Amino acid sequence: MSKIIAIANQKGGVGKTTTSVNLGAGLATLGKRVLLVDIDPQGNTTSGVGINKADVANCIYNILIDDIPPHEAIQETKIEGLHIIPATIQLAGAEIELVSTISRELRLKKALGLVKQNYDYIIIDCPPSLGILTINSLTAADSVIIPIQCEYYALEGLSQLLNTVRLVQKNLNPYLQIEGVLLTMLDARTNLGIQVIEEVKKYFQEKVYRTIIPRNIRLSEAPSHGQSIITYDRRSKGAEVYYELAKEVLSYE
Ligand code: ADP
Ligand code: MG
Repeated sequence: MSKIIAIANQKGGVGKTTTSVNLGAGLATLGKRVLLVDIDPQGNTTSGVGINKADVANCIYNILIDDIPPHEAIQETKIEGLHIIPATIQLAGAEIELVSTISRELRLKKALGLVKQNYDYIIIDCPPSLGILTINSLTAADSVIIPIQCEYYALEGLSQLLNTVRLVQKNLNPYLQIEGVLLTMLDARTNLGIQVIEEVKKYFQEKVYRTIIPRNIRLSEAPSHGQSIITYDRRSKGAEVYYELAKEVLSYE
């Protein structure tokens, strides 16, 4: 069985990339075959697993626009069992170029269909928008994980995201489910975080993961070393919680 999970929220800075990299690393460490798909032109997942974007020959852009087979873009990472389809800034043009393409919403789904059987999990790191790249991701995915930052206005903008999910379910991918809602960057020293947790749980109920990601300085340092938290500092709180999240995701298989 293999599962394609999109990590989506059109807000920037809520922990999509951190979750993609570290959930992916956690699942791979637990023995799963994992493919990360970076579909954000910023390419933070790509650099986050230690790939120098200047050295990338083929990226997700060439799959979506030039129709190259995905295996020509897939790269290994330092973690065994963790592969990636990288993104470079070239992808920034894709939003516009895809507009005039036939079945433009289905291009990622078609491409991932060619490699899906090689992986237990495919994790797509979405850009901070609800444009055609996120639509491609939700169309290709079996389910979506929504990271929500524990801060004021945490739920703001979520109705737009959920509306997009419903539109995709109705028109492109009736099987799309909400895999889970992940609370991120909790500052345990404030009451605000507790209030947000309650608010989000009231709204999403059992969809909220038991694992809550706290603010952890090591998590924010790891990307600049091109490493997941699991290789950067295995004993940190950040590594512990993302490892826990990986186990929780596995328990819902
Ligand atoms: P997104 O992909 O949604 O834009 P990121 O995962 O890139 O969000 O996170 C935004 C910033 O916050 C990054 O600099 C990242 O390193 C940092 N960050 C993410 N999660 C945490 C955390 N739990 N603790 C501390 N810093 C975090
Ligand atoms: Mg990101």
